[in-house]
Amino acid sequence: MNTYDSLNRPLRDLRISVTDRCNFRCTYCMPKEIYNNEYNFLKRDEILTFEEIYRISKIFVSLGIHKIRITGGEPLLRKNLYKLIDQLNTINDIDIALTTNGVLLKQQAQQLFDSGLRRITISLDAVDDNLFKLLSDSSYSHEDVLRGIEKSLEVGFKVKINMVVKRGINDQHALEMIEFFRNSNVIIRFIEFMDVGSTNHWNENSVMQSQELLKMIENNYKVNKLEKNYFGEVANRYELQDKSLEFGFISSVTEPFCSDCTRIRLSSDGKLYTCLFSLSGFDIKEKIRSKNDDKQIINFINSIWTNRNDRYSELRNQSILSSNKNKIEMPYIGG
Ligand code: SAM
Ligand code: SF4
Ligand code: SF4
Repeated sequence: MNTYDSLNRPLRDLRISVTDRCNFRCTYCMPKEIYNNEYNFLKRDEILTFEEIYRISKIFVSLGIHKIRITGGEPLLRKNLYKLIDQLNTINDIDIALTTNGVLLKQQAQQLFDSGLRRITISLDAVDDNLFKLLSDSSYSHEDVLRGIEKSLEVGFKVKINMVVKRGINDQHALEMIEFFRNSNVIIRFIEFMDVGSTNHWNENSVMQSQELLKMIENNYKVNKLEKNYFGEVANRYELQDKSLEFGFISSVTEPFCSDCTRIRLSSDGKLYTCLFSLSGFDIKEKIRSKNDDKQIINFINSIWTNRNDRYSELRNQSILSSNKNKIEMPYIGG
C-alpha cells in the first residue's frame, strides 16, 4: 500500500534517530558552546525503546516504507544497537542502513553485520588530523574513523563516506579525500553544509557549492557522470574515468530535491517529522504509550502524510522559516 502526500510524493523512507547523544561535537551539527552547556539531553524514559521502534517500523512498512536508516546523534552509543537491527531484520522487504561517525565500528562492525546489516555510511570530513579535529571538535583522531572504515570493509559492508564540505575550511581537502580513497571500495558523498537547526552558524557564504567542487575535481581528474540508481536518489553520481572511485554530491542547498522527497523522520524522543527543517513534530510515542491499536496509529500517520506539503529547500530564500530559531536540531531528528 502506498500513501501519498499533498504534493503527490509517496511515503518510502524512514529515518530513525536512536539517540540525541554524541561523542563528537561537529561544529556544523552540535557546537560545543551549546551542547556542553545549556542543552538538555533526553532522559532514558523519554527515548523510544527498541520494542516501540520495532512496532512503529512494522506499521510504516505496511504503509509503503522500503528503506530504514538508523541515525542519531551517534547511533552506536545506543546500547546493544545490534539487537534493534536483529529485530528490524525480521520485517520483510526492507533495506536497512546505518549512518555513524565510525569510531565505535572497530568494536561493533562484526556484531552489526551478523545482525543482518549490510550498508553503512560513515561520516568523515578530512583525512588530515588537524582539520578533522577542528571539524569534529572531539578527542578522537581521523585514524579512529579510518580503523572503523577498514573494519567495516573487512567484515563485508558496503561503505559510503559522507563528507560535509564547508567553504574555506575543508573544501580544498576534497582532492586529498579522493586521492586517499581511490581503489579502496568505498563511495564518497560530498554534502553541502545545510542550515539545519539554528545553532550551527550557517550562512550562505559557508556553503561550498557542489558545482564549484565538481569543477575543482574535473580540473584534476578525468570524470564520468553516472546515471541515478533509482527514482528519488538524492546524490548526483560520478566516477573517476579509471574507475578507481565513485563519488557524488548531495546538494540540498543549490539543487533542492524536495519534489522527490519521500522521507519521514522519527526523532529520538518519539516524534514524527515530515521535513528536516520542521518546527515541530507529531507525537507518535504518546499514541503508542497510550495503548492505541495499529489501526489508530495507521490513521495517525496517514493524516500526517496526506497533509504534508513541506519543501523548505526549494523555498529557502523566500522562507520565513530560514531565520526561525525553533527549527528542530539535527541530533534529535537524525541526518
Ligand atoms: N553521528 C552520525 C554521523 O555523524 O554520521 C549520524 C548522525 S549525523 C546528524 C548524520 C549526517 O548528517 C552526517 O553525515 C553529518 O555529517 C550530516 N550533517 C550533520 N549536520 C549537517 C549540516 N549542518 N549540513 C549537512 N550535513 C550535516
Ligand atoms: Fe555527532 Fe554526527 Fe552530529 Fe557529528 S554529525 S556531532 S558525529 S551527530
Ligand atoms: Fe525533504 Fe524537507 Fe529536505 Fe525538501 S527540505 S528535501 S522536503 S527534508
